Amino acid sequence: MAGPSSDELYQRCMSLASNLWWSWNPDVSSIFRDLDPVRWRQVDHNPIVLLREFTTERLDQRASEMVLYSRINHAYRRLKEYMTSRTEWARNNAGLLGAKPVAYFSAEFGIHESLPIYSGGLGVLSGDHIKSASNLGLPLVAVGLFYGQGYFRQRLDPKGYQNEEYTDTKVEDLPIKEATDAEGNPITVSIDTRSGQLLAKVWQMHVGRIRLFLLDCNVEGNSPDDRQLTSRLYGGDVRTRIRQELVLGIGGVRALQALGITPGVYHLNEGHSAFGPLAVIQNQMESDGLSFDDALRNVAMQTVFTTHTPVPAGHDRFESELVEEHLGPLREKLGLSYEQFMSLGKVDPHNANELFCMTIIGLKLSRTANAVSQLHGTVSRRMWAHLWPWRVEEEIPIGHITNGVHTASWLASQMKDLYDRHFPEGWADRVGESSIWENIYNIDPGELWETHNALKNLMIQFVRRRYTAQCQRWSNDENVIRQAQQVLDPKILTVGFGRRFATYKRANLIFQDLDRIAKMVTDTQRPVQFLFAGKAHPKDEPGKEFIRKIATLRENENFRNRVIFIENYDINVCRAMISGVDVWLNNPRRPLEASGTSGQKVVLNGGLNLSILDGWWAEAYDGNNGFAIGQGTSHVDDAVTDQRDCEYLYEVLESEVIPMYYRHDVDGLPTQWVKRMINSIATLGWRFSSDRMVMDYTNSCYVPAAGGLSCDVSSRQ
Ligand SMILES: *Cc1c(COP(=O)(O)O)cnc(C)c1O
Repeated sequence: MAGPSSDELYQRCMSLASNLWWSWNPDVSSIFRDLDPVRWRQVDHNPIVLLREFTTERLDQRASEMVLYSRINHAYRRLKEYMTSRTEWARNNAGLLGAKPVAYFSAEFGIHESLPIYSGGLGVLSGDHIKSASNLGLPLVAVGLFYGQGYFRQRLDPKGYQNEEYTDTKVEDLPIKEATDAEGNPITVSIDTRSGQLLAKVWQMHVGRIRLFLLDCNVEGNSPDDRQLTSRLYGGDVRTRIRQELVLGIGGVRALQALGITPGVYHLNEGHSAFGPLAVIQNQMESDGLSFDDALRNVAMQTVFTTHTPVPAGHDRFESELVEEHLGPLREKLGLSYEQFMSLGKVDPHNANELFCMTIIGLKLSRTANAVSQLHGTVSRRMWAHLWPWRVEEEIPIGHITNGVHTASWLASQMKDLYDRHFPEGWADRVGESSIWENIYNIDPGELWETHNALKNLMIQFVRRRYTAQCQRWSNDENVIRQAQQVLDPKILTVGFGRRFATYKRANLIFQDLDRIAKMVTDTQRPVQFLFAGKAHPKDEPGKEFIRKIATLRENENFRNRVIFIENYDINVCRAMISGVDVWLNNPRRPLEASGTSGQKVVLNGGLNLSILDGWWAEAYDGNNGFAIGQGTSHVDDAVTDQRDCEYLYEVLESEVIPMYYRHDVDGLPTQWVKRMINSIATLGWRFSSDRMVMDYTNSCYVPAAGGLSCDVSSRQ
């Protein structure tokens, strides 16, 4: 049988590269890698850029050298099958949504490192949400913004100061194309403001079965300033912010309309998109002749709102004048007075000084609201109780659905191979079920330990490569470079900390008592080493100072090769870290971490969490599936809390973590430790998967919202 022609082969590779589905299928991503492993790394794992460097002949030749034909053809067939098949789960659970999909709005989507339209946890959560929606077959479309420059690339200077670099993203390097209407014309949406019209074009991307639409203000017809409006994520000032949110919410709803999509449910992932329902209300008033109040009642039924942070600065607030400048024309169409409109974003409608808050309008325009962990639910109900002064705290209508992570995206392929050997056939489609993960108890502990250590070695190679490149920028000294190539020892207990350097996350907590931690690091029998990474927001000076302090610990003899900071934390760096660390450290100031998800990624690969009992860990920790720092308390005085938590952290390291890691049986296996790894995987793998999360959203929010039935996730404890 004749194989495909070289043109066909090239086209098949391009088809694979054009759907982000490849990014969570190691069988497919490994094809790209094997085409040219070095370039693959250099182009930041971007298959489109990689493929463009090949002529059809050269690709054909390389495919033949590497015996890739059957793998390419197999992957291509699987993608086609995937795109056309329907899942049983969706038939049984989401039938009601049918032709009226969920419209999922988010300001950022973290899908893959080659697509820089995310900054941190919120974006990665959105990415994982739509990937699970794809796997489950949930009818859902996603709406976001296309950032021409994205978030910044982090570089440290030799003194540890963070520099931010922005580069233009080239559209032709990405798997996106213009979204078109029924006639095949590109779509542009417009939004009237008091200061002129704002235009946005719409891009479309395929994330498995899910279509993601991204609005982009860099179009002709916009002023030069407005053409830059969507260039950076979380850049600019408060005016940039409200204009971006206008485009996301109002523009997003109009884009779906132009595409001929009629959502049954609107899911606002965080307050950034909370203007959106106003455009839906406007449509209903115009098409059905409803009053504002009646249309609001209908639209709120269809709207699901997720709040993501108990940190006050995390809730956007705008001056009334700024709101009027941007929403004034729409307000008039809705028939609302200035005061009526402003009251949508306020606790006290009569207080002229109160700022307009996006979380409040989100809560007021949705029938169902939720926080992202059980503890965050409690905190959020308390935080917003004054919006419902007639209700007791337990009846505040904010429930919780705890965040989860997309298993296939965060499970290292070596660990996946191990699971494949011991889990039942088809397990990857059922990761939200606890029974699947119980099979981990059948795995030979030695095999699990070996796999973990292989992954740890890969991580250390990655770190050495990155760290050497950093040092080469800082120094010509051969000794420095040679040392950089040797950092971290695979035999030493390795603790990882990777996340945004927001100060409440307290990256430097462990260094409060340098002598005490140095003792642990330099212990000759049972040493510990640390790996850090994370970006501080460009305007967060205290966060940058944390980075500087940690990055310059290398000047201290005690920490030189054992406390390493690597630059530019992103999905790629995160993936490397969470698949290889022994322990993942998480020490936020309770209760400010709404959920946290990086620790959930660690679970999948056999790492153990060492965490404050905050966010997801407060409900996940059972005494045998990781380690807790403290007892889940906090003091009103931050300094006291920090002092206490630091002491708890040292105690648990010295008395539990370190001894357990180094206590080996006669075969050299740390039996107790591996038992804990197994408990962690068995008890947490399914519960904190985004499949479970999306199933929860479907059952408790989407389906009731689509049916107009009352839905209550409040106080689900
Ligand atoms: C998962 C992830 C996060 C979230 O980390 P938290 O533990 O929730 O702080 C942030 N950034 C990246 C790149 C991630 O992959």
